[in-house]
Amino acid sequence: MAKVLVCGAGGFIGGHLVAALQRRGADVRAVDIKPLAEWFQTCADAENLQMDLRDPGACLRAVEGCENVYNLAADMGGMGFIENHKALCMLSVLINTHLLLAARQHAVRRFFYASSACVYKADRQDQPDLPPLHEDDAYPAMPEDGYGWEKLFSERMCRHFQEDFGLQTRVARFHNVYGSHGAFDGGREKAPAAICRKVIQAKLSGDHSIEIWGDGQQTRSFTYIDDCLHGIGLFMGADTLPGPLNLGSAEKVSINQLVEIVESLAGIRLQRRYNTTAPRGVSGRCSDNSRIRSLFDWEPSTPLVRGMAATYAWIEAEIRAGRSVR
Ligand code: NAD
Repeated sequence: MAKVLVCGAGGFIGGHLVAALQRRGADVRAVDIKPLAEWFQTCADAENLQMDLRDPGACLRAVEGCENVYNLAADMGGMGFIENHKALCMLSVLINTHLLLAARQHAVRRFFYASSACVYKADRQDQPDLPPLHEDDAYPAMPEDGYGWEKLFSERMCRHFQEDFGLQTRVARFHNVYGSHGAFDGGREKAPAAICRKVIQAKLSGDHSIEIWGDGQQTRSFTYIDDCLHGIGLFMGADTLPGPLNLGSAEKVSINQLVEIVESLAGIRLQRRYNTTAPRGVSGRCSDNSRIRSLFDWEPSTPLVRGMAATYAWIEAEIRAGRSVR
């Protein structure tokens, strides 16, 4: 089988993707800026390399000999990270730009780019109960400051490399992906993992209270990692795509409801402390899946309760084993 490159392979989604591609028999080159000991998962059979993909020379070496490229490398985290590190988030533009150039030079067959629901314009997300976000809602542009602008710009780079240079690019707008083998502390964790950690710590410490960022009424949809991987496979297998596509669950919940789900997994009830000065993100965000459904007759559908049960179990085992995120 031809070789494939997974960038950001030491991260949450990249780590799962390498494992999934290997299970399907692919020959994988896995690259991340982090030392191997800090990767969330490593596959012994993959070619695992530590490289800084902001560097054009590193991108050329990484892409050489690969038929397909999956770019999941970015300097990012949850709201706490992206609201406070806008310049770092924007610098990820170097990764995608140099990877696209390298992919063109090495005549890569297909190039996957991990975009985000953060590209959607602010005024479509300023209340908890607005309709789900359709692909067309990204324009006129007013995305999340920093991180969202980088994603929107990189999406367009993918589009124009396809239109002008014939490089086949596939762009997914992920909506809050969650699951095992990702950050649950350290500052880059996202809401599902952070809430699991807080509930587990409350349970273990006996201090039955929880801090919630914002008023807890902000809404989101959360996509289980297995659905995310399935969608990536569909997008990369498609002969054509009509531009960036949502890859997200349509099951909308408030943060308060997410906390309730985790409390029931833990078998406790906690007193809520709302921190209304903490980063909380937009008021409402959910994926409109009409386009992905019409193209693939499929959409992410793992029930949140089921995905969170698996995620909670993994984080609890990590915490009980005394492990923290690297
Ligand atoms: P992650 O932080 O776990 O993984 C990203 C990886 O990229 C990290 O391991 C990091 O070390 C690596 N990286 C950063 N800079 C690099 C560099 N210069 N060279 C090489 N590697 C570098 O994040 P994730 O959750 O796995 O997200 C993967 C992709 O999906 C990212 O592009 C992210 O923006 C996008 N995305 C994720 C979500 C989500 O909910 N997880 C939502 C929307 C978009």
